[in-house]
Amino acid sequence: MFRALLLAPPGAGKGTQGERLAERHGVPHLATGDLLREHVSQGTELGRAAKEHMDQGGLVPDQLVISMVTEALGGRDPVENFLLDGFPRTLNQAESAYEWGRNKNRVFDAVIMLDVPEDELVRRLVERGREKGRSDDTEDVIRNRLRVYEENTAPLVEFYEQRDILLRIDGTGSVDDVTERIESGLSPLIAD
Ligand code: ADP
Repeated sequence: MFRALLLAPPGAGKGTQGERLAERHGVPHLATGDLLREHVSQGTELGRAAKEHMDQGGLVPDQLVISMVTEALGGRDPVENFLLDGFPRTLNQAESAYEWGRNKNRVFDAVIMLDVPEDELVRRLVERGREKGRSDDTEDVIRNRLRVYEENTAPLVEFYEQRDILLRIDGTGSVDDVTERIESGLSPLIAD
């Protein structure tokens, strides 16, 4: 069983670590930001509704994201194990995910929280904006995303701490070091 999620501010390395962990454990990497960007580029109804929120660094409304994720996990092609990245991001999403998981027997085993100081986050994101040209990686939008994280997503740490599945990982240093820290923290929580 491997049902884990990555909970971390923008720039902490969710995408990079998410891909590695998913590959190592042979599970799909479901990144809500990637799924939403795909909808935007394909011009779907969801993409049109999501775009302005994403451009401003705000959150896409809960109901839209919740149905997108529950469809990806339990729709026509259900997955039993997964690495979720970027969801849940609000208490409302976390509560819905928990209810849904209990009904479908898909409760999360581990929540990986990556800790990185704020000035390092901003530095990484500004650099990514320069290299990859992601439209929300500009300084103003980055500040807004960090504020939105503090306000809406940081409270989830306590939510998962109370359920005893939170793994707090130092997200600084090399990519390999962070992966190893995550793996050693995960092993007691995940029965492969
Ligand atoms: P980052 O963590 O660097 O902000 P993501 O790719 O995870 O990057 O997310 C990009 C954007 O997609 C967010 O700023 C937000 O607008 C939207 N988004 C992604 N996941 C969610 C979610 N669970 N709830 C609401 N909005 C989301």
